[in-house]
Amino acid sequence: MSRRLALAGHFFRCSGESRYCAGVPSSERVYPVSTGPVTEADGVPGPAGGVDELSLAVAALTAPELAAIVDLVAWVDADWLYVANAAGSARLPVADPDGPWELRFGRHPLASQDPMFAVPLSAALADPSPPNERNAYPFAGRRLLSALGDATRSPDLIVVHTPGHYWPERGGHLGEHGSLDAGQSRAPLLLSGAGVRARGTHPEAARVIDVAPTLATLAGVSMRDPEGSALTELVGPGARHVVGLLWDGANSNDLLAMAAAGELPGVARLLAEGVALAGGAIAEFPSVTLTNHTSALTGVGPGRHGILHNVYFDRAVGRQVIVNDVKTWHAACDQLRDGVETLFEAVTRERPDAVSACVNEPVDRGAHYSTFGLVREMGAGAGDGPGDMNDYLPPAEGDPHASERWVRENPDYAWSTRVDALGLAQVVQLWGADATPPDVMWWNTTVTDTGHHGGGPYSEQARASLRDADARLVAFLDLLEERGLLADTAILLTADHGSEAADPTCRGDWGEALRATGIPFRDEGYGFIYLGQSAVPPEPTTPTAP
Ligand SMILES: [Zn+2]
Repeated sequence: MSRRLALAGHFFRCSGESRYCAGVPSSERVYPVSTGPVTEADGVPGPAGGVDELSLAVAALTAPELAAIVDLVAWVDADWLYVANAAGSARLPVADPDGPWELRFGRHPLASQDPMFAVPLSAALADPSPPNERNAYPFAGRRLLSALGDATRSPDLIVVHTPGHYWPERGGHLGEHGSLDAGQSRAPLLLSGAGVRARGTHPEAARVIDVAPTLATLAGVSMRDPEGSALTELVGPGARHVVGLLWDGANSNDLLAMAAAGELPGVARLLAEGVALAGGAIAEFPSVTLTNHTSALTGVGPGRHGILHNVYFDRAVGRQVIVNDVKTWHAACDQLRDGVETLFEAVTRERPDAVSACVNEPVDRGAHYSTFGLVREMGAGAGDGPGDMNDYLPPAEGDPHASERWVRENPDYAWSTRVDALGLAQVVQLWGADATPPDVMWWNTTVTDTGHHGGGPYSEQARASLRDADARLVAFLDLLEERGLLADTAILLTADHGSEAADPTCRGDWGEALRATGIPFRDEGYGFIYLGQSAVPPEPTTPTAP
């Protein structure tokens, strides 16, 4: 029996009795698509809308009446990346993503791209969810070009929500992410323990695509052809064990402030033996979950790895692809483009004897132990198709690491608590006294995203979610200490995106304005616009992204 299967058997013997199969309050997301005259029956949007359709769509979306909810739109045409909003427009040569932008008219929609904008917490609180003219969009050219860089999955036109846009009728929350601006894009980034040379808080920002190359360096290996860079000024090889923690949706400014105030003892323990970047790690665009989990674990942007959004349209197969859902997480890696390497695969390529583990993370390809690997195996064994994570969750009530109030008041919080309890249970088994601890482990935490959505950043619910995640981290650190492993372990803590407060008075839907133009379109994930309805048949094979 392989090591992985032995772990699996042990794990499910311990937790299988709490199998859950009743109605699931969350995270049963729905991804209805907003369309124009085109319907599923009419045909499939073609590779690119006609120029006239694009112009009509841009004109409709940049109308002053929509300025409160449309921060900007972006598209590529004839080797230029264009951005526009109601106040102005600029463009950038595709071949020179860091090069100077050329102002076309009015005010530049991306005038500031300062990665340290709205850092620290006091600066963010002084001007929450700022309008375009006071906001900043770090690495905007590279991030937009990546989102527009896939051969068949990128949209023709991107619509970026204003940070304040509140859209509860489309699943929106009080805390939001997904946009291009600093607040929604900024994840925390902390490094601690073996191999970490720096201390304190550095006034810098990295990118989420730097996470995999940095973890690889700590593990003594290197990613193949990453877009991000290892933070070699902060870390080097030498750790016996390397751990990556992703606290989904954690607000970087608030996490650092709470740790400094003594409210997150686990994070404070990491900082005592390590370093934080005050500017955290800037997410890829869109600043959504699965796009950035994938970027963190592959070191490349969506234009390379192929997970363009939580939901997107793929012209090659002529259908909507939903990757970020409890029912599809176990199959998310099927969508990775050719040539993409995960951290786990890089570790195995250069250290064939090393053992890797991937806890509660859909982007698990190549890991020796994986939660979703178990889901795939259990599903296959049941003979009725894959199961899903909901089948294995323990109850939230009585969880010693959960904030009782929010478990009671928010069904999503209760569900996320159960997911994270399952995560900690796996971690305790992987590192327990009767186990050989993994050389490299990735551990994804969910309740932080739920807390930030539910109450918005800085809210009691968001902060409770950070404390709960911290309590589980403390349990892990105590275990490492007890086993004498702490000094030999490097720990990186990050997230997949930030969280910014929506403004409940900032309402609206650009779908009506688009429909009024009469052009055929699909709006996937509310912001990825696919134009046209040509009868181009699905291509027989999936081309490799550029
Ligand atoms: Zn997320």
